[in-house]
Amino acid sequence: MSENFSAFLYLTAAVFFILALRGLSSAKTSIKGNVFGIIGMGVAIVAAFAMPKVSSYALTITGIIVGGAIGALVAKKIDMTALPQLVAAFHSLVGLAAVLVAAGAMSAPISFKIGTLGHIMRGSLVEIGLGTAIGAVTFTGSVVAFLKLQGLIGSKPLMLPNRHLINVSLGALILFALVLFVFTEGHFFFWVLASASFALGLLMILPVGGADMPVIVSMLNSYSGWAASGIGFTLNNTLLIVTGALVGASGAILSYIMCKAMNRSIINVIVGGFGNSDAFEDKAGSADEQRSVKQGSPEDAAFVMKNCSSLVIVPGYGMAVAQAQHALREMCNILKNNGVKVRYAIHPVAGRMPGHMNVLLAEANVPYDDVLELEDINRDFPSTDVAFVIGANDVTNPAAKNNPQSPIYGMPILEVEQAKTVFFIKRSMAAGYAGIDNELFFRDNTMMLFGDAKKVTEEIVKALES
Ligand code: NDP
Repeated sequence: MSENFSAFLYLTAAVFFILALRGLSSAKTSIKGNVFGIIGMGVAIVAAFAMPKVSSYALTITGIIVGGAIGALVAKKIDMTALPQLVAAFHSLVGLAAVLVAAGAMSAPISFKIGTLGHIMRGSLVEIGLGTAIGAVTFTGSVVAFLKLQGLIGSKPLMLPNRHLINVSLGALILFALVLFVFTEGHFFFWVLASASFALGLLMILPVGGADMPVIVSMLNSYSGWAASGIGFTLNNTLLIVTGALVGASGAILSYIMCKAMNRSIINVIVGGFGNSDAFEDKAGSADEQRSVKQGSPEDAAFVMKNCSSLVIVPGYGMAVAQAQHALREMCNILKNNGVKVRYAIHPVAGRMPGHMNVLLAEANVPYDDVLELEDINRDFPSTDVAFVIGANDVTNPAAKNNPQSPIYGMPILEVEQAKTVFFIKRSMAAGYAGIDNELFFRDNTMMLFGDAKKVTEEIVKALES
């Protein structure tokens, strides 16, 4: 097949990828978006195979089979709650691939048709250098994000002394090494550039604390897109350039949206650890151990909810862990049939990935129209009888409003405390992801329902039915 026809197929694939992104921008059209993405990828694979320059089909097919099998196995085994760390791990591979491809191109330029050893085209050297810097930052940054999300290292911010000075110095070193590499093609400068970028990735993500992780995950998503785009330039592959740029741009837009939702400055997130968590002292569980909470039973909750007229459900990470969405839907159906007005309130960072709660509720066939975003539901809490907080914690914590020392200070919250009665379903008094106490547990209008979210909800359903 001719180069031109392959180029036409690449263009077709790119159009499908754009349609996929458009579809994925709303829960209602997301299935269509996924289908467009699959078609686009199918077309891209056919186009790549049709390229006259493919020299070994056996090697390529082996790669697809081995990689595809590993991907399918991981996807089958992984829990939905572990997706953020899986995504972070995948991003790290994209970053590492960018560095390896760049190193390969520098060492064997003839194979990449970018010149000969010692005489690589200047433009290609710029691409190799930039791709390496972005790829290396993405790699180590994503590894740290993976370790934090997986709980292998603490999610608390790790503040090195003089970290801003160290980061600025590393940034200057990267720039200096890049210029020298481009003008001399010296391999030593390439490795200085790569090492400094690896170090910068580590130092940028280590100081990021619990509540800011969602923005970092989407920021790394964006970096991995730009890294892939860099590989596209080195490999002279138009589709990789375009798709990398699409991922990079959409990740950057998502980061911006999430920064707005979390009331964070995007510049602070990009440069890392500029938040206000320096002065924060983790006191989770300390002072509050003496205080008592009001504890209720599923029967109490069923009685109150059956007799209320409006109910707002606030799902969080614990609902995902317990897989309580189906039982929750059943409970809401019974209450709706009893004439209760039921709605669901979604916080933009509830759970462990953007859209996490929307996906779970859609899986349980909760009608889209019952699901409201934070800015649309908050004004309704004062006139709501019951707020039913199921496995959520940080997203309701008033410390975000009234404690400037708190790591979540400034983040908008779901104002559940304004409802007449608040139920919290969780297993213990433990803190949420940000590691801080929640004052609401001790309020007069709060009743704690301790237990696994699914089990407690099923018991409420039983009590409602009897
Ligand atoms: P939180 O992490 O604040 O709280 C979840 C609560 O669920 C915990 O307090 C836990 O309490 C409870 N829980 C856990 N398992 C169960 C279970 N089986 N049954 C009942 N309860 C359970 O979650 P939120 O959704 O409120 O907030 C999300 C947090 O995660 C924010 O800090 C956000 O910044 C962060 N984050 C979000 C990401 C995103 O993209 N959305 C990505 C990374 C981090 P207990 O142990 O007592 O049961």
